[in-house]
Amino acid sequence: MTTVDWGLGPGAEFDLIREMLAAATTAGREEGDGPLDAADPPGAGVQLGPGDDAALVGDGRMAVSTDLSVEGVHFRSEWITPREVGYRAVTAALSDMAAMAARPIGGLLSLAIDRERAPRWAPEIAAGAGAALGRHRGVLLGGDLSRTPDEAPIVIDVTVVGEADRPLRRSGSRPGDRLWVTGTLGGAAAAVEIWTSGQGDPAAPLRERFSHPEARVAEARWLAERDVARALIDLSDGLAADARHLAAAGGVRILLDPKLLQVDPNAEAALGAERALELALAGGEDYELAFTAAPGAVEEVVAEFRERFALALTRVGEVTSGAGLDIVGLGSAEWRAHGWNHFGDGR
Ligand SMILES: [Mg+2]
Repeated sequence: MTTVDWGLGPGAEFDLIREMLAAATTAGREEGDGPLDAADPPGAGVQLGPGDDAALVGDGRMAVSTDLSVEGVHFRSEWITPREVGYRAVTAALSDMAAMAARPIGGLLSLAIDRERAPRWAPEIAAGAGAALGRHRGVLLGGDLSRTPDEAPIVIDVTVVGEADRPLRRSGSRPGDRLWVTGTLGGAAAAVEIWTSGQGDPAAPLRERFSHPEARVAEARWLAERDVARALIDLSDGLAADARHLAAAGGVRILLDPKLLQVDPNAEAALGAERALELALAGGEDYELAFTAAPGAVEEVVAEFRERFALALTRVGEVTSGAGLDIVGLGSAEWRAHGWNHFGDGR
C-alpha cells in the first residue's frame, strides 16, 4: 500500500477514502502506470488528482468532480420535492466547481430509482438538475438511468466539469494567513434537525437553505480574479471538518474562533444560540466558501464583495504553523466528534 498523504482531514470517513485511494493506486500501478497518485509528478493529462474539491486535467484548467446524493442519507422525500432533490444534488456538485474557482460547463446526471416512482420523479429530478446547471450557464451533458429494487432509496450521482483560469486548491495556506467564510452558517443543518426531531417543517428561510442552496461560483471566481484567496474549499462537511481539510492540505494549523462566526439568524431563532452555533461549526451542506488569505488582503475588498453579491465575508480564524484544527474555547475532546461524518466517530 502507498503511504501517500492525500491532504484529507482526520476521521473514519476519510480513513476509508484514504484506503480506497491507496487500493486504487496500487491496483492501477500493477496494471500499468496509471497516474492516479496526486503526489506523483503529473501524469498524462492529470495536473491534480484526488484529495481536493475537484481534479484538474488536460492543460490543468479543466476541473472534474462528482457528488452523490442518497435518499435517507442526504435527503428524505417527505422533506423536499423531487425537483428540489435534483437542484440540491447538482448544486452540491457545482459547489465543488466553486471551490476550485472554476466556471461550470456542464454536468452528467446518473439516477437510480425504483419503477414505481420513476415516471413522476425522474423528469422532476432532471428539471431541478437542469435549473441548477442553467443558473450557472451550465448544461446537461449526459448521464445514466437505472432501476433499483422496489423500495430501495433513490441514488443520484452528479459529475460536473468546469474550466478554471486560476484554479484555487485547498493547499497554499501560510502561517499568518487569516481564515474567512462567506455568508451565514448552520441554516441547512438546522432545517434537517427540525425535520428529524419531529418538529414539523422548518420556517421558510431555513427550509430554503436546505432545499435551494447556492453554489458560490461567481463569488469564488471574483476572489480568484483579484488574487485574494490562497487556499479555498466549499463548506459541505461543516466548517470544523472542512477547516481540518484546509489545514491538512496546507500543512498548517488553523485556529478557529467561534465567537466570530455569523450564525444563521433563523437557526438561532428556531433552536437557540448555543445549538445554532454548534450546527454552524459542525453541521454540513451550507455550501458557503472558506478560504485563507494574507493579512489585510480581504479587508480591502469586503465592502465591494458585499455590495456585489449581497453576501458577507467574515474572518473566523487564523493560520499558524503546526497541524490540525483548534477551536478557541473548546478542548479537543469536546469537538472531536463534530463534523459531518458518514462512517462512524460522528454523531
Ligand atoms: Mg468540496
